[in-house]
Amino acid sequence: MTELTSREFQLASRPSGWPSLENFRLVESKVPHPADGQVLVRNLFISVDPYMRGRMKDAKSYVPPFQLGNTLEGSAIGEVLESRIPTFQQGDIVNSFLGWREYFVSDERGLRKLDKTVRPLSAYLGILGMPGLSAWVGLNLVNVRGEDAVFVSGAAGAVGSVAGQLAKLRGTKVVGSAGSPEKVKMLIEELGFDAAFNYKDGGIYPQLKKSMPGGIDVYFDNVGGDHLEAALSALHTNGRIIACGSISMYNEEVPPPGPRNLSLITTKRLTMKGFIVTDWFNQIPEFLKEVGAFWSQGKLKMKETVVEGIENAPQAFLDMLHGSNVGKMIVKLG
Ligand code: NDP
Repeated sequence: MTELTSREFQLASRPSGWPSLENFRLVESKVPHPADGQVLVRNLFISVDPYMRGRMKDAKSYVPPFQLGNTLEGSAIGEVLESRIPTFQQGDIVNSFLGWREYFVSDERGLRKLDKTVRPLSAYLGILGMPGLSAWVGLNLVNVRGEDAVFVSGAAGAVGSVAGQLAKLRGTKVVGSAGSPEKVKMLIEELGFDAAFNYKDGGIYPQLKKSMPGGIDVYFDNVGGDHLEAALSALHTNGRIIACGSISMYNEEVPPPGPRNLSLITTKRLTMKGFIVTDWFNQIPEFLKEVGAFWSQGKLKMKETVVEGIENAPQAFLDMLHGSNVGKMIVKLG
């Protein structure tokens, strides 16, 4: 095989506040031939995710910061073009953490072989991937069950759209919030939410109260900030919060003050539980069995927004932060 060139994105500078295209740099690098114990992979789909904004800061967190001048990382689905590892064959489909590039050579560490008959394969970045697992783990951690009324914020996104549907499959009542009338319509008419509202239309608490007048038992928090404050007010005594993310704050240079009504945690005897999905990767087989079955039986709908071409990956990332995605934001490589 002739030597390949891979187009890849690096972090050119660290954003302050909202990131922009200037923070990214497209470079080309020669792809070496795989040595013994290595595979050559062509990426088919790459993921852009909210947590990547955190990795752009030069601050210690649960994942190390991206380094300036290094190719960015992220989940990707690729096809093995050449294998010098006995357990991998040409044509195998693999999940890696080597996104933001067209090709790579790697040993088997960090590679997970996938069922190549699944269509679309991008499902492994969304409903059957990290976002779907986050939805499933989050609901399990607060033991969501039939009699609960559940509020999901960021409900039209990758995690939220799966969390709301899985909660419905457990027999709960579900209300979702999202940032456009089209998303609200989709939640009710396509995904079966009992109610939904556009958080940009007015106060969150009044809209939540109107949508679920009896209050809520569980809040699945993807947004933090004003959504968390509204949920604290709407939760019943002994209510539960699963803290998945706080996207409303990721681009704030100075973090806004916390919810003004945090003391309701005490007076209402609330429980708030946080989690990081990577701690739960050992549950992937069980997750794929349950959620994969729901999906193949048509009980769970997959939503994704697909942007074509590696050159558009930074714009797809920015658009996702601004809310132009419905379901999982995916970048499809040519
Ligand atoms: P999404 O697919 O939901 O995309 C992000 C969405 O956030 C946008 O589409 C936009 O939708 C919404 N948004 C942006 N700014 C705001 C705002 N100020 N207020 C309300 N909504 C906003 O992303 P994911 O599903 O991948 O992630 C959702 C959340 O889950 C994030 O907070 C993420 O960090 C977290 N997460 C946590 C994990 C964990 O391990 N704990 C794992 C995976 C994700 P809209 O149009 O509705 O505004």
